[in-house]
Amino acid sequence: MTPVVQLLRDLVALPSVNPVFLPAGDVRAGEHRVADFLIATAAKAGLSVETREVFLGRSNIFARLTPSGPVKRRIVLAPHMDTVGGDNLDKLLNPEIRNGRLYGRGACDTKGCVAAMLTAVMDTARSAQRPQETEIIFIGLIDEEVQQSGSRAVAASGFEADLAIVGEPTQLKVITAHKGDVWLWLETTGKAAHGARPELGDNAIHRMAKVVDLLETKYAQSLKKRKNPLLGHGTVNVGTIQGGFQSNIVPAHCTISIDRRTLPGETESSVRRELAAFFKQHGVKVKLAKGKGVPCLALETNHKLPLVQAAVNAVESPDETHRRRLFLRCRRTRTRRHSQCRVRPR
Ligand SMILES: [Zn+2]
Repeated sequence: MTPVVQLLRDLVALPSVNPVFLPAGDVRAGEHRVADFLIATAAKAGLSVETREVFLGRSNIFARLTPSGPVKRRIVLAPHMDTVGGDNLDKLLNPEIRNGRLYGRGACDTKGCVAAMLTAVMDTARSAQRPQETEIIFIGLIDEEVQQSGSRAVAASGFEADLAIVGEPTQLKVITAHKGDVWLWLETTGKAAHGARPELGDNAIHRMAKVVDLLETKYAQSLKKRKNPLLGHGTVNVGTIQGGFQSNIVPAHCTISIDRRTLPGETESSVRRELAAFFKQHGVKVKLAKGKGVPCLALETNHKLPLVQAAVNAVESPDETHRRRLFLRCRRTRTRRHSQCRVRPR
């Protein structure tokens, strides 16, 4: 078994389920086991390691390969350490290799990336071609599966890099753009009445039925008219609905939640304005209530930036030597600083 596969097996066997997906007190919750293991592994390979606490007992980890000379460029490899939960979780924490694939919770999303990225940095640290002026930092992030608190904390700290590659399952494609999402809760209000005299009430579910129909037809069609060359068009999905108490009462309230996938340039505010104008135009009264609470904007990195091109070319080239020399090429490329240069999954 190669060291990277062994590392992946070890990582899958260590539970790091986001606490949101498990009952309070479940020992399988949290990233600390994986974080401790990665810290020890990285330190053994000669990387300098630090932790930055985000929540009590939940820290991002930074494993740094410093260059032999002064730092002129910084490359970040940033996968997340947490996973979702699942039925039969203990079985999922027992990694199995079948037909050349490793199965287990998080093997794909995204402990595979953790193993590959950390191994790449450790191999580079051990090689004779240690970078002369490029600092490479592996960042293990917490809480990506829920509120992305780990990556948000890194961004809020003012941390900058010339290139950041985020590890996610992309079938080995370099993805330079992805949609954002806006979650909104919409409410209709009517008037309660006895079910035997519905004409005395105002049915909030009926009002909401019109809202749902408009969203799934005319609004969805209007989104198809605006296209991004890489991402296509935005979408809307009505995901949940709640309303009424029992069959013989005219419902006074109804709530739905929607998931609106956005294109670069769209924000929660712009989506709210667009929806308000849309419902006004169609004469429908509906309240746009709470949102998700955290912004999740679309991303679009200029794929013509030299470092991004180097990554694209390295992955797409059938030449394994070329692929292995990605870091070296990055080190040699003389470019201006690209603090916004990020490669992220769709
Ligand atoms: Zn993921």
